[in-house]
Amino acid sequence: MPIYEYFCDTCDKKFETLVLGGEVPVCPECGTQDIRRLMSACGFISKGSGGETVSMSAGDSGCGPCTSSNCSSCGI
Ligand SMILES: [Zn+2]
Repeated sequence: MPIYEYFCDTCDKKFETLVLGGEVPVCPECGTQDIRRLMSACGFISKGSGGETVSMSAGDSGCGPCTSSNCSSCGI
């Protein structure tokens, strides 16, 4: 089962959700579909790839969110 990390532009929050085939997840906070999928590897966020995901500055140095919860995607 693929668990993806998403970022909600409305709440400015990150969340993980299970995505079934073809399903478009919504933000658990505000219910919007205005969300972006982050790449599964946490390092990708800090590295960035042209600047779009780097705009998140809230404690994303390294793998912060993944050490406090189960981040099955990054394997830490
Ligand atoms: Zn939201």
